[in-house]
Amino acid sequence: MATGSQKKQPRRRSTRQRRAILNVLRQTKSHPTADWVYEQVKQEIPNISLGTVYRNLKLLRDLGEIMEISFGSAQSHFDGNPNPHYHFHCLDCNRILDVDIPVRHELEQEVRDHHGWEVHRHRVEFYGRCDKCSRQREE
Ligand code: ZN
Ligand code: MN
Repeated sequence: MATGSQKKQPRRRSTRQRRAILNVLRQTKSHPTADWVYEQVKQEIPNISLGTVYRNLKLLRDLGEIMEISFGSAQSHFDGNPNPHYHFHCLDCNRILDVDIPVRHELEQEVRDHHGWEVHRHRVEFYGRCDKCSRQREE
């Protein structure tokens, strides 16, 4: 698309940007930060700004297209898979891995029964050492 026509079609431009960001996230299992997404999207859309990437990530999260994972540390990570699932954070290599066990919705009922609170959702995060890092320590 030429620069001139982009100015006349801001909606089409933002749709293209948002789709590119979503594609980057759908094609990786690495749960990247916004900075990493920005570096990837820039290869397709060189004039995109980091601010635009941030804004679209938040928008995609609000639309339920992606998930934002925050470990209470400085930077959020993003997940192209919006379906509920747990994550494991390796404290050695810092990778965030998908945990392939079912989400325990019964925990919400348990809290409800115990406290009488209305529970909407829950979050569980696992921390430790991944299989790869464990093997490396044994060598
Ligand atoms: Zn590891
Ligand atoms: Mn995930």
